[in-house]
Amino acid sequence: MRSDAYTRIQDLLQFGEFGDVNPSITDSSTYTFLEANEMIETFHGKSSGCFLYSRHWNPSNKYLADAISAMENTESSWITASGMAAITCAILQLCNTGDHLITSVTTYGGTYAFLKNYLPKFNIDVSFVNINDLDSVRSAIQPNTKLIYTESITNPLLQVSDIPELAKISQAHNIHLMVDNTFSPMIISPAELGADIVVYSMTKFINGKNDCVAGAICGKQQFVDDLSNVNSGTAMLLGPVLDPLRSSSILKNLHTLHIRMKQHSKNAQFLAEHLTELGVRVIYPGLKSHPQHELLKKIMNREYGFGGMMAIDVGSAEKASELMQKMQQEQVGYLAVSLGYFKTLFSNSGRSTSSEIPLDVQKEMGLSEGLIRFSVGLDNDIERSFKKIKSCLESSRLL
Ligand SMILES: *Cc1c(COP(=O)(O)O)cnc(C)c1O
Repeated sequence: MRSDAYTRIQDLLQFGEFGDVNPSITDSSTYTFLEANEMIETFHGKSSGCFLYSRHWNPSNKYLADAISAMENTESSWITASGMAAITCAILQLCNTGDHLITSVTTYGGTYAFLKNYLPKFNIDVSFVNINDLDSVRSAIQPNTKLIYTESITNPLLQVSDIPELAKISQAHNIHLMVDNTFSPMIISPAELGADIVVYSMTKFINGKNDCVAGAICGKQQFVDDLSNVNSGTAMLLGPVLDPLRSSSILKNLHTLHIRMKQHSKNAQFLAEHLTELGVRVIYPGLKSHPQHELLKKIMNREYGFGGMMAIDVGSAEKASELMQKMQQEQVGYLAVSLGYFKTLFSNSGRSTSSEIPLDVQKEMGLSEGLIRFSVGLDNDIERSFKKIKSCLESSRLL
C-alpha cells in the first residue's frame, strides 16, 4: 500500500542518543575518528558512516535530510542555509560553462535574477519560456541543454506546471528536470511525478514560523553524493550549510506540516470563492476558473487541498498599497514578503518580490501592477477575516 508523505516521515526511527524523543542537536563542527584509516578513507570519498566536518555532513542536518527525503520519496537530500543556496548549488552542480538550460519565465524573483544576471558570468545560456506551452519548451531544447527548471506552482501567478509532461520531454532528451516545490509541499510530490531534483525554500511552509531561512535539495543518492563531494561538490565547496540548531527546530516543525497545509488550503479556498462572488478578480488554483485547475486536480495529493497561496488584482499599484495598508490596520494580517506563516501575509508582487523582473517582462508574463499576493494564514475564523477584507475593499472603493 502506498503511504502518504507524513506517514513516511513518522515511520523514520529518529530519536536522540539517550532515548530523547527529539534527536540530539549537534553542537560540534568537527568529529573524532577512532581509527586513523577511517579519516583517510572518508577524504577519499568512501563512506565509513563517520562524520567528518559539519560543513560536509552533520547529524542534525542528516536527520532533517532523511525526513525531507521521506516526504519527497527521493533517495537522498541535502540541507542548505537558504532556498537560494539550494537552487543555485543544484543548478551549478548540473551546468558547466557552455551549457544551456530552459526555465519558466515566472519564477521567484531571486531565482530569476540568478538565471538572468548571474549565470552569464559562467557563460551558461538560459531560455525563458511559458512553461504551460509545452511546444515552446520542446523547441527551446538545444544539443547543450542540461536542465529544465520550473516551480510546481509558480510565483506569483500561480501557474501549475505539468510535471509529468515535462518529465517525458526531459527524459526523451536525456536532460534533468528540476522543480521548486516551495509553494506546495505535500500537495504536490514532484519526484513521484518524474522530476529528477526537487528544491525547497524551507523558510516558507515547511518551517512555517518565519524565524529562519533554510533550504533543501532532494534527488538521487548519486546527485547528493556529487553535491557533497569533498573535491568537486558545489554544496561542499560553496559551503552554505545550515546551522544544526536551526535544522533541529525545522525538523520539529515538519511534523505539523500536513495539518498546516490542510488549514492553509481550506482558508485560501474560502477567501478565493467568497472574493470571487464579490466580483474581485481572484487567481487561485482551487477555482474552476483557474486555467490549470483540472491539471492540478490530476497531479495533486487531494487531501491537502489547493494550497495557501492566492492572488487578487485590484487594478493599480496605488490601489494595492491603499488596500494592503487598510488590511494591516484591520489585522487581516501583515504587509510583508515571504509566505507559509501562521498569519496571513500580503504584498504587491510587481513592486516587491518580483521587482527583479523588468516591467516589460512582468507585463509579458501577465503580472499586472495591481496584483496582491496573499499567503493565507491558519486563522480559525476565516469568515471574520473575509468580512474585514470586504470592508477594506469597500472603503477603498474597490467594490
Ligand atoms: C522564498 C523562495 C525562494 C528563496 O528562498 P530563500 O529561503 O529566501 O533563500 C525560492 N523559491 C521560492 C518559490 C520562494 O518562495
